[in-house]
Amino acid sequence: MPSSLIHDVVVLGSGAAGLTAALAAAQSGADVGIYEKADLVGGSSAISGGVPWVPLNHHQDAAGISDSREEALSYLASLSLDRMDPEMAATFVDNGRDTIEWLERTTDLLFTLVPNYPDYHPENPGGKPDGGRSLDPGLFSYATLGDWQDRVARSRRSAHLKITDTTLGGGTGHLSEAETQRRLDHDLRGCGNALVGPILKALLDLGVVPTTDARATDLIVDEGRITGVAMEIDGEPRVVLARRAVILATGGFEWNTELVAEFLRGPMTAPASVPTNTGDGLLMAMRAGARLGNMGQAWWVPAVKIPGDVAFGEQRSNLVNRERTLPGSIMVNSAGKRFTNEASNYNALGGAFHQLDPVTFGYANLPAWLIFDHAHLQAYGTFGAPAGSDLPEWVTQADTLGELASTIGVDPDGLAATVERWNAFVDQKQDEDFHRGDSAYDRWSGDGDHRFTKASTLGRIDGGPFYAVPIESGTLGTSGGPRTDTQGRVLDTHLAPIPGLFAVGNVAAAPTAMAYGGAGGTLGPILVFGRITGLAAAQAPSGP
Ligand SMILES: Cc1cc2nc3c(=O)[nH]c(=O)nc-3n(C[C@H](O)[C@H](O)[C@H](O)COP(=O)(O)OP(=O)(O)OC[C@H]3O[C@@H](n4cnc5c(N)ncnc54)[C@H](O)[C@@H]3O)c2cc1C
Repeated sequence: MPSSLIHDVVVLGSGAAGLTAALAAAQSGADVGIYEKADLVGGSSAISGGVPWVPLNHHQDAAGISDSREEALSYLASLSLDRMDPEMAATFVDNGRDTIEWLERTTDLLFTLVPNYPDYHPENPGGKPDGGRSLDPGLFSYATLGDWQDRVARSRRSAHLKITDTTLGGGTGHLSEAETQRRLDHDLRGCGNALVGPILKALLDLGVVPTTDARATDLIVDEGRITGVAMEIDGEPRVVLARRAVILATGGFEWNTELVAEFLRGPMTAPASVPTNTGDGLLMAMRAGARLGNMGQAWWVPAVKIPGDVAFGEQRSNLVNRERTLPGSIMVNSAGKRFTNEASNYNALGGAFHQLDPVTFGYANLPAWLIFDHAHLQAYGTFGAPAGSDLPEWVTQADTLGELASTIGVDPDGLAATVERWNAFVDQKQDEDFHRGDSAYDRWSGDGDHRFTKASTLGRIDGGPFYAVPIESGTLGTSGGPRTDTQGRVLDTHLAPIPGLFAVGNVAAAPTAMAYGGAGGTLGPILVFGRITGLAAAQAPSGP
């Protein structure tokens, strides 16, 4: 028999969901064990932008930004397609402010507003075109983590940047040499590392030390109650018992191709999260009899795969935000036609990739291509290659649009007509087909010299050479899984709580369902429900 470990609360997974729940539980006096499948902690949360979206947060007060419960709820409802549970949405909105205050009070986190970052659908009722709900976790010194300094997953590219330094967050993407050196000297990290680091530190200070290389394989059920977890720790079978609760926080199922094919509403070929998110928690919950929700959905994102670009041992999928928003680029399908507002928010764009052509019964907009011209390349660079540098060799180029279209298998006449039509829209400053540039959001991620005007995203495609890059339908993480109540308790098929089982984060059915309010639309609810779930788990009745 494998030997047993025992805790009041067992947390599976160490992303923002798991760590936040663990912190809340440990602060209430519970003995908490965190078990992480990977050799590093932090999950996708650690390699993310680290931005939570939290309506009514207290940083709005100092900035003089008005917000209200009614605005936040009607905004979320406007994005829900009637699939959001209003009670879950209200729980999120009602607890956001407290959660951010709690994190700032009990950890080294100190958020600031990402200035002016518009909500993702700012013109919808209750939307905020001038921002105020997206928060930047700032910088955190990993030198303060002692033995854990190098045990958190990190993004090679952005670990030392704050979100507001990046082009995504309104910055230039560059730091002065002196500032770069200062951040290296103190190992100051931003984005997802700045969110996860302080929560991990608070846990370590409380004596809660995560166990890595610890993969949960199954839940232990005793007379309908979850009493523990079967695990593999360092490759050896172990049993971890839970006196009060097990919290599933194992992330989504985006790296499990079978589950992706079984459940997601359309193709998804480019997961951008950590590759250990293979749906283990979903399968465990299903075996325990959980009711599932939101299963077709994910936090969608257009992505590009750069040959040879590897992260965590797998081909990396890079988010495509700036390149498709900047002037002088469009996206087309095989017919050479534009099919969407390229500057829309990434999550909503998923819908365009999943458009079914009823005649061919194929996906009308896959494959998709980003097309740009030489002036765009010169001005902005492309996919990590700075302005003025050589074209990366993996990008397809041709002297004429016709040649480019033939090389990539796109209809040349369609592409020629599309570019002509696009250029006419640019000249008249109005995209009559897809309204690119009309929304405040479209004008955010484009050319920073023209931010807040349409010129930040509208620009002609004129002079060769011309370039093409394949764009895939990707995800930041899936957002369906076991349904939970407002306490984070997993519900069974009759919607009754399964005793001893909780879930939070991308492993669970998202509390906002399809609604992605703004930058931070996944991490905001995760922090809020992480705290609620941890508190409830610590107070769950203890087993016999
Ligand atoms: C590049 C990128 C940028 C992003 N930026 C933002 C942003 O700025 N704001 C925002 O709101 N969202 C952002 N997201 C999305 C966000 O990162 C995720 O929605 C969020 O991190 C999910 O948190 P989680 O704790 O549920 O999962 P994760 O952080 O992925 O953690 C899950 C953990 O569970 C572990 N695990 C899996 N299976 C097991 C098992 N069987 N046993 C034990 N452990 C297991 C995994 O190894 C992983 O460490 C971004 C995502 C990416 C990829």
